[in-house]
Amino acid sequence: MVKFCSLFSGSSGNCLFFGTEQTKILIDAGLSRKAIFNALEQIDQKPDQLKGILLTHEHNDHVRGAGILSRTLDIPIYATEGTWKGCMPVLGEIDEKNMVCIEADKPFEIDDLCIQPYRTPHDANDPVGYCLLAEDKKTVVATDIGKMTRALLKWFEKSDLLFLESNHDIEMLKIGSYPQKLKNRILGDKGHLCNEVAAKTVAYMVKTGVTRVVLGHLSEKNNFKELAYITAVNEMKKEGILPGRDATVEVADRYAVGTLYDL
Ligand SMILES: [Zn+2]
Ligand SMILES: [Zn+2]
Repeated sequence: MVKFCSLFSGSSGNCLFFGTEQTKILIDAGLSRKAIFNALEQIDQKPDQLKGILLTHEHNDHVRGAGILSRTLDIPIYATEGTWKGCMPVLGEIDEKNMVCIEADKPFEIDDLCIQPYRTPHDANDPVGYCLLAEDKKTVVATDIGKMTRALLKWFEKSDLLFLESNHDIEMLKIGSYPQKLKNRILGDKGHLCNEVAAKTVAYMVKTGVTRVVLGHLSEKNNFKELAYITAVNEMKKEGILPGRDATVEVADRYAVGTLYDL
């Protein structure tokens, strides 16, 4: 059985759990060690069983706790060269054997997990998303995405679970209190995915056979759970897809542990 759980998701900190009986990992660790350990306890997982941390990119909300976790548990961090460069000051000292450099489009293995990093359009040094393959199941993690592309859709195909960013509502962002420069950054091709594009992506992916979707990385100021959810559901209904029957859609919480999926 493959397990997946969103421990935290949002602009305030990201950390996802993924694992098989044998191999358990985190994807991003953008919160304190204490917060992450507490969240793991809630899903009956022991931190000392973790075999590694995959980083998507160097932004603080993804890496804040990775250094201390690596030191405490003596586990490797996997990141692209650009991400390593960007996050070294935040991570602090990492044992050389725990610094693993990965490359987009070059799959690698951690025990029985096969991991395929793929490039994402985002304003970081060398950001990636991850396809996680284990026991014939495919889980895709796709956050911090400025725009949807054919290449990304291809990565999402035939996934058993798709964890997709649904960051903001465009209107809320436009009329909100963020400085114009930040608004432009978020709306740009290397910013974040809006509810509308996420919803269209979900509808498209469900039509091609994806049955579990979790929406995540919601903006604190420019979105709320019900809005992200209803935008996706409305788009699915337009395509004749019935949520609950054809696919499940959930929205990950910012601070609370989400559903523990058994795939
Ligand atoms: Zn980011
Ligand atoms: Zn982020």
